[in-house]
Amino acid sequence: MSATDSHTVDSPDSEAVADFRDRARRWLKHNLAPATKAYTGADDDAIWERARALQQLLYEGGFAGICFPKAYGGQGLTSAHQRAFTEESLGYEMPLVLNVPTLAICAATILDLGTEEQKRAHLPAVLRGQEILSQFLSEPRGGSDLAGLTTRADRDGEEWLLNGSKIWSSGAYGSDYGLCLARTNWDVPKHSGLTLFLVPCHAPGVTIQRIRQVTGSTEFCQEFFDDVRLPADAVLGAVDDGWASTQRLLNHERAAVGGTSPYTSGARPHLGGDVTALVELARAVGGIGDARVREDIGAARARSIVRDQLIAHVSQAITAGALPPAAGSLVRVFSAENASLQADTAVKIAGAAAATAGAHDPEHRIGLNYLFRAAWSLAGGSTEMSRNIISERLLGMPREFAADRGVPFNEVKRGR
Ligand SMILES: Cc1cc2nc3c(=O)[nH]c(=O)nc-3n(C[C@H](O)[C@H](O)[C@H](O)COP(=O)(O)OP(=O)(O)OC[C@H]3O[C@@H](n4cnc5c(N)ncnc54)[C@H](O)[C@@H]3O)c2cc1C
Repeated sequence: MSATDSHTVDSPDSEAVADFRDRARRWLKHNLAPATKAYTGADDDAIWERARALQQLLYEGGFAGICFPKAYGGQGLTSAHQRAFTEESLGYEMPLVLNVPTLAICAATILDLGTEEQKRAHLPAVLRGQEILSQFLSEPRGGSDLAGLTTRADRDGEEWLLNGSKIWSSGAYGSDYGLCLARTNWDVPKHSGLTLFLVPCHAPGVTIQRIRQVTGSTEFCQEFFDDVRLPADAVLGAVDDGWASTQRLLNHERAAVGGTSPYTSGARPHLGGDVTALVELARAVGGIGDARVREDIGAARARSIVRDQLIAHVSQAITAGALPPAAGSLVRVFSAENASLQADTAVKIAGAAAATAGAHDPEHRIGLNYLFRAAWSLAGGSTEMSRNIISERLLGMPREFAADRGVPFNEVKRGR
């Protein structure tokens, strides 16, 4: 079974999807407010507080964690139920900020790898909106060579001492725990000496700084760990087996970024989706009658349809075992290109207003989306690394050369 389907098995007594959809529609109408504005990220504490409250509401209504097992607070239903709920919830205010990485990446990884105690401690709390999770993987020296990281965790009796720094952690400032990959053995090749830890974000010795991006957003963080004490049960998976643990996490990440995760709920706004916004924009700027604009919107729509079909096809193939979880990289590459196309098309339609619009003008967001579009070629591992995965793990082509393969990490030549 794949990393994304192992806990979403249909049970014979589960509610039919059509009945579930009807129940969801009625519940949403009576319990959630209409979405009043587009989702624009997670830049202030109020957004996290609102998301926690909305998640609690979903939990009480029986619609949180649709694909998580009932034993850990979920609904124990299938990805078809989740898709139905997502479709019904479009247009309502949803805690979208909790989708990635909390639910689709971190909670899914805890479900895969956690001990019974870890699953019972964290998953119900996440599904009730009481716990928010981050991932601490990338480091200032570079994120693509993830196994070359130098944040270290050293044994100190029964405990561990964590030292180093992580960066580009989405929303860490609003989180309670981070899944942190650290080096625990320097005498073995780089992939063999890593361990994944659950690190409390507010533990003594953890400093979280926010990073301002070109868009003005300060959602990204850098963390510094100075002699952070972690108990033995902070280890997620096995000691020195963190690379295998991280592969599970990364499969969930590719699925989340590519749009195939069964653990996200509500809209997936960053990927382009439908082209209603482009049509509305063309109307607003008086370009809807222009043949060139109509052609561009048609091309964007065709791409979105192909993307949705690709997501459906690859998800089904992974679930059926016809493709390995690494096939999420196919969708990952296509989704990044699609997101860029959508952002570029919006700029073409808006013209100069995309660059000159003031903060309260409708075109303002278009310029910001354009500036941010490169992120979709980096998030969840870069497009180049995804292409490497496709060539090596799906097409069976030779592995990329690596000078440090098989060399104990403490003998690997590294820049200062
Ligand atoms: C929106 C967003 C959210 C993110 N959230 C998180 C998060 O929550 N937690 C976290 O830990 N990280 C996060 N990241 C960081 C992300 O994982 C890294 O940006 C990514 O892994 C690339 O690492 P890097 O930025 O250090 O680039 P580098 O590794 O320095 O790479 C620079 C360039 O070189 C290319 N390159 C590198 N090696 C190769 C190779 N072998 N073959 C071909 N090309 C190569 C890369 O593709 C890239 O274009 C996020 C990034 C984005 C954009």
